[in-house]
Amino acid sequence: MAARSALVAELRSSASRSVDAGVFAARARQLLGQEGVLTDGAQRAPFERDYHGRSGRALAVLLPANTPQVAAVLQLCGECCVAAVAQSGNTGLVGASIPDESGQQALISLRRLDTIGPLDAANRSITLGGGVRMSHLRAHLAADGFWFPFDIAADPCVGGMIASNTGGSHLMRYGDVRGAVLGLEAVLADGTIVNSLKSLRKDNSGFDCKQLFIGSGGALGVITGAVLQVQRRPLARVSALLVPPTHADIPELLSWLERRYGDLLISFEGMSGEAIRCAYRELPALRRCFSADEVPDYAVLIELASSGEFQAAALAGDLRTAAQKMIELSLAREVLTDDESAFWALRDAIPQALMKSPRVMTFDVAFARSALPPFRMAVKRLLETRYPGIRLADFGHFADGGDHLTVLVPDDCARAYPPLKLMRLRVELYDLVAEHGGSFSAEHGIGPLNESAYRRYMPPEIRRLHASIKSLLDPAARLGRQAAAP
Ligand SMILES: Cc1cc2nc3c(=O)[nH]c(=O)nc-3n(C[C@H](O)[C@H](O)[C@H](O)COP(=O)(O)OP(=O)(O)OC[C@H]3O[C@@H](n4cnc5c(N)ncnc54)[C@H](O)[C@@H]3O)c2cc1C
Repeated sequence: MAARSALVAELRSSASRSVDAGVFAARARQLLGQEGVLTDGAQRAPFERDYHGRSGRALAVLLPANTPQVAAVLQLCGECCVAAVAQSGNTGLVGASIPDESGQQALISLRRLDTIGPLDAANRSITLGGGVRMSHLRAHLAADGFWFPFDIAADPCVGGMIASNTGGSHLMRYGDVRGAVLGLEAVLADGTIVNSLKSLRKDNSGFDCKQLFIGSGGALGVITGAVLQVQRRPLARVSALLVPPTHADIPELLSWLERRYGDLLISFEGMSGEAIRCAYRELPALRRCFSADEVPDYAVLIELASSGEFQAAALAGDLRTAAQKMIELSLAREVLTDDESAFWALRDAIPQALMKSPRVMTFDVAFARSALPPFRMAVKRLLETRYPGIRLADFGHFADGGDHLTVLVPDDCARAYPPLKLMRLRVELYDLVAEHGGSFSAEHGIGPLNESAYRRYMPPEIRRLHASIKSLLDPAARLGRQAAAP
């Protein structure tokens, strides 16, 4: 094992050995043409900065236009001992979609692989290039009465969504992206094209290799295309904003709604009062669902949808009856139903508003549903007793056990919390996540941001297994910024 670790270390260092940027770019241009290689700083800049404003520096930005070109540039990277990072929509949140600061990693952008293939309406599936934007896919499907049910407050691309195994606010009903991938095409680090663009829902004819690439954060291969399962577009969608008596009552509210609506319940999103107040403070133009002095401690946004004609007509009327019942049964203190677009605008504005706060710490954690309220109580106790003044401003996909745990350090206590103290808080919060049986990364992956948590909380035998898979597919450790080390 020690010998193998030494070999991996040697290969890693050779992967990032200094290369002549001019020579590399010239060879890349022979493969991709002039327009396929960006070396100018201003042209590279948008690819080198991520959503959070973290930045790196690429040796060159490569823009292949098809799968053979992706294979050719990966071969070139191999010959030149250059590490490569794949990028699709660049909406990832763990710093893994941009190169590091060395100026030695090539960035492979998939945005030119944006072909939308024919929709197979009978099979409810569609073949897509890895660079197809979610917004384009949705617009394309809508024309034929279909829908790709992954709603998030960003506009990623197919390849990045698969590499991140995106969840979103409809996961409780439709699952994560993994469940929607019927077929996949990827290019390995040595340039081998693995084409498994099948449209099958059932296929037990061997190990299901496509699963390796889903959620791999670009560490095992570059995803160039996929066949995705799509859904019929809902004929009716209704939303309501609920105020539960306390956070601890939410699991009972969720169970009640699941019993009443079954599969028609497609979203159950939680928002803390502090997160709502932050959205109203930072984005004054946002339409108010609650007046300033009426923001509750916690609110839940639910959505019901039906793509079947049978149920669609009844949905809106029944939600009003259910609202009455939830109040009578003390499952909710308040139920708002009259301004649905404002409810979702508020939900989507929260991540953006929190990022505008000057001192904010964010986590993306997940639990068994029943463990969420005790975890949240434990966080509140920790903050009150050891970090007074710091506020909990979490939100998330409650039905999936997800919590975008966020803490804000207000101006008036900023001096009490120098960076070292906040680092200690970060570790204590991660330890609480582990104590409650949770995951330190629910949806966003590992990347540089979560690498230390990966090493601290992932059992060594699983890390060794990850490293074995990595060394099989990418023996020189040239791909991606996702940790996979023993
Ligand atoms: C406002 C906001 C809200 C969000 N909400 C959610 C949410 O609700 N649920 C959720 O799950 N995520 C959410 N995200 C995170 C993010 O949008 C998803 O992870 C997204 O699916 C990433 O896709 P992308 O195309 O932007 O990938 P990128 O950001 O380009 O890349 C993400 C990762 O995938 C790798 N990668 C990219 N393309 C490829 C490829 N073709 N082949 C191999 N590897 C590749 C990259 O190297 C990187 O590691 C949110 C992000 C933002 C900014």
